[in-house]
Amino acid sequence: MDCIFCKIINGEMPSKKIYEDDLVYAFMDIDPTVDGHVLLIPKKHYTDFTELDDNIIIHMHKVRKELTKLLMDKLNAKALSISFNYGDSQVVKHFHMHLLPNLLISDGVKSSVEEIYKKISN
Ligand code: 5GP
Ligand code: ZN
Repeated sequence: MDCIFCKIINGEMPSKKIYEDDLVYAFMDIDPTVDGHVLLIPKKHYTDFTELDDNIIIHMHKVRKELTKLLMDKLNAKALSISFNYGDSQVVKHFHMHLLPNLLISDGVKSSVEEIYKKISN
């Protein structure tokens, strides 16, 4: 299957990894909406949220709580929004959650993905 997120998971394409376990993978968004924009994806290819099963939903919820704490601590964020797209607004057809620090209270990207990645991974 020609899926860029499957390729990221199996190492065929590079990514700036934030977290990984048996079921999920989290990495920096290549074209961030805000500083610290992270994507959380299931390793199994589900096209969109309608395909997710209960176990992965529960697990992704646990991991997104940990990632929220990590991002808010490391970036000294005051807010964080979590979202996912569906239908025509979902560009990459491998389910993913967007974690968006300070989305509604910042005026966009201030730093490079590299700089932010260093802050998060230190
Ligand atoms: P969507 O609109 O499908 O919810 O969002 C897809 C997201 O994936 C976008 O924010 C986009 O910047 C990100 N993205 C697309 N291709 C790549 C890639 O190859 N690497 C990374 N790290 N992010 C990507
Ligand atoms: Zn995939």
